Amino acid sequence: MTTCEDAGLQRSKESADHVTDNRSIEIPPDAGRSWWLLDALADDPSPSSPQLRGDVTADVVILGGGYTGMWTALHLTELDPGVDVVILEQDICGGGPSGRNGGFVNSFWGDLHYLVDRFGDEAAIALCEAGEDSVRALGTFADDHKIDAWYRGDGEYVVAASEHQVGGWADGVITADRLGVSEHFQVLSKDEMRERISSPVFHGALFRKVGATVQPARLARGMRRVLIERGVRIFEDTPVTRFGVGDPAIAETGSGSVRAGSAVIALNAWAHHWKPFRRTVVVRGSYIVLTAPAPEELERIGWTDGSGLADMRSAIHYVRTTPDGRIAFGLGGMQPNLARSIGPRFAYDEHAIRIAIDDLRRMFPGFADVPIEAAWGGPIDVAGHHLPTFGMLGRGNVHYGHGYTGNGVGPSHLGGKIIANRILGKTDPVLDLPLVDLEPLRFPPEPIRSPGALVANTAIRRKDEAEDDGKEPNPLIDFVARLPRRLGYNLGP
Ligand SMILES: Cc1cc2nc3c(=O)[nH]c(=O)nc-3n(C[C@H](O)[C@H](O)[C@H](O)COP(=O)(O)OP(=O)(O)OC[C@H]3O[C@@H](n4cnc5c(N)ncnc54)[C@H](O)[C@@H]3O)c2cc1C
Repeated sequence: MTTCEDAGLQRSKESADHVTDNRSIEIPPDAGRSWWLLDALADDPSPSSPQLRGDVTADVVILGGGYTGMWTALHLTELDPGVDVVILEQDICGGGPSGRNGGFVNSFWGDLHYLVDRFGDEAAIALCEAGEDSVRALGTFADDHKIDAWYRGDGEYVVAASEHQVGGWADGVITADRLGVSEHFQVLSKDEMRERISSPVFHGALFRKVGATVQPARLARGMRRVLIERGVRIFEDTPVTRFGVGDPAIAETGSGSVRAGSAVIALNAWAHHWKPFRRTVVVRGSYIVLTAPAPEELERIGWTDGSGLADMRSAIHYVRTTPDGRIAFGLGGMQPNLARSIGPRFAYDEHAIRIAIDDLRRMFPGFADVPIEAAWGGPIDVAGHHLPTFGMLGRGNVHYGHGYTGNGVGPSHLGGKIIANRILGKTDPVLDLPLVDLEPLRFPPEPIRSPGALVANTAIRRKDEAEDDGKEPNPLIDFVARLPRRLGYNLGP
């Protein structure tokens, strides 16, 4: 009988090559907060918000002070300046993934092929265009409100970082061509890509013209500042401990409660802890390491604009630079444990951080001697169709938005617009988009879900690592890695 270990599901020999000596890598300690947030807080003059004390009422109570919650509140107050909104956040606004992410502002153009397959041509294009509007809207919002969020709309590269990944973009490009929207994409040969950004592992790329990067926590803290200016009541350090889906909806905290006509559950991966979402959102970890400034090395490899770069692995590498010449290198698709709940290893996991540093130095060997100054992680809300959904519970007065699967910076702007319009009973074309009330794909129940996800996730990463090393993955690993897609999920290879 073949056991998991025999089959290499622990760490396969072939894939161990480029990480065997990573124990010697010096890693920065857990700073508690992301480097982005520490930078943003140093530049944020607004006082901290109080905890909720006592019982209050509001028109709308929002659970979660990340982008989804805050964009909803921003759209609400734009559409109806008189609306009375309360936000309850367990930490500080932007303390979660909205202040910890890679800062890639994506539209949905990268999902075009899947969207067409699932929703048809017209709905797919409408969603991509709405996503594109949100990418630009973030830049306009930052300008209008004088938020120094480092917004750069320079597009993004999807690189083949191994020969296996070459042409992985073909379906999307063919679909774009058929639909007459190929101006959004440009295929680059190995030499053309290396001329733009030089790495010995790049074998070609797709350049997507719509895409931006931001300093994510500066954006989050700027959004919070604008909300306070508009009179939105924000309570921080205020975890919601009980929630009643009724009319009114009631959010209870340890020291008070909010009764409101409408409620918004904007809890991202934490929604997994809530019964209605336990089988529709699962949690993965994503981790980022940040180098010291090395502008001369960025100049040498030709990366002097604000473009983002990701490879085509299932456990994706996402990489961007900062204005002072650092590289922020991200590693997605990690699972520090059975992931039944969000523990401290989602915020900082030594094992994942060592792998990320190793992978960074493999992609950009010129950074081998550049110190790593910070490292952190955060939880990702994985949905089976790899798309967010914006739906309603109860009598239609409780709204939710999640399932970004690690791509929420741009889409949460759109999600906030959808939710705000629904709450206020407005009509807007965004309400016709296929993400509205999108029926989620359900994951298996426990005790199958967590161990099954861990095995599949481990296989996916082993397959990626073998292919990075130019090797064929073990056939059993390959089989297990492809299982989620075979079972109908839009996840994995
Ligand atoms: C390391 C990392 C890198 C990423 N990189 C990118 C990227 O480059 N581009 C991209 O598009 N996306 C990226 N993402 C995903 C992106 O950050 C999210 O999709 C986005 O921030 C979602 O916003 P949100 O408001 O829904 O969630 P969050 O920012 O997580 O906000 C939810 C909030 O709810 C709060 N909360 C939880 N439970 C409670 C409770 N009981 N009571 C009160 N408050 C509660 C949390 O503290 C949190 O602040 C990344 C994520 C991570 C972790």
